[in-house]
Amino acid sequence: MAEGQLAETTVDFANILLSGPCNQRCPYCIGRQMPAHLNRSNLALFPLRNLDAFADQLRRHRVRQVVLTGTNTDPQLYRHERELVGWLRSQLPGVQLSLHTNGQLALARMDVWNRYDKATVSIPSLDQATFQAMTGTSRMPDLAAILRASAIPVKVSCVIDEPNIGGIDEFLDHCHAIGVRRLVLRQLWGNSYRWTAPPYLSFVGRYRGNPVYDFRGMEVTHWDFESTTSTSLNLFSDGSISAEYLLAGRALLREPGNVR
Ligand code: SF4
Repeated sequence: MAEGQLAETTVDFANILLSGPCNQRCPYCIGRQMPAHLNRSNLALFPLRNLDAFADQLRRHRVRQVVLTGTNTDPQLYRHERELVGWLRSQLPGVQLSLHTNGQLALARMDVWNRYDKATVSIPSLDQATFQAMTGTSRMPDLAAILRASAIPVKVSCVIDEPNIGGIDEFLDHCHAIGVRRLVLRQLWGNSYRWTAPPYLSFVGRYRGNPVYDFRGMEVTHWDFESTTSTSLNLFSDGSISAEYLLAGRALLREPGNVR
């Protein structure tokens, strides 16, 4: 089997990767390190390059979940988000649609937001100064308002880096207080700031090799690329379809939905 191909039964989910200017400037954005052709803007394109061929592969692999995410942009900046969601519903009936976003446009686009089956909001801190240090913007999404307005399940994703690693306890408290039910703490690939679960978290099991804890009824997963066992099929913005997520010419990550 050639590199980048997967056996028909090994695909856990698929990613549709949007590219273009972003509404945040996160220093850890992996899109900045990707080859330029994989960051070719597709924010104004419908249909996306190679979308039909991608859908064919999803049917062949019997993929049950499609994630809209970005290599270097917020997928809600895609001008044809509503059309794409409608197209996927018609072409891939029964497939679960998931949005992975930074949440900047969530409240303004709640109508299309609620057409997905679930969403993940990537937010590194609820402390204003820390948020700004990690995203390059002072506009913090109103996570509590997003949770109140959302008709679909919302998971929160938080990358761990130097500015926020000392504030994870407060972050857990704050997320719990505003009603978050699922939270993922993500190690950045190659980053030396490693979080260790405090004793007050109860270990409840593993998900794809990553430890899962309970915090007062909130599920907390500690996600680490290096122990991840899931595989994905990816449609890049230039129309490439690959089972690998390429970074600087090397196959490093298998789950680009986690790069935010
Ligand atoms: S990490 Fe995500 S939100 Fe941050 S700049 Fe990159 S694409 Fe935008």
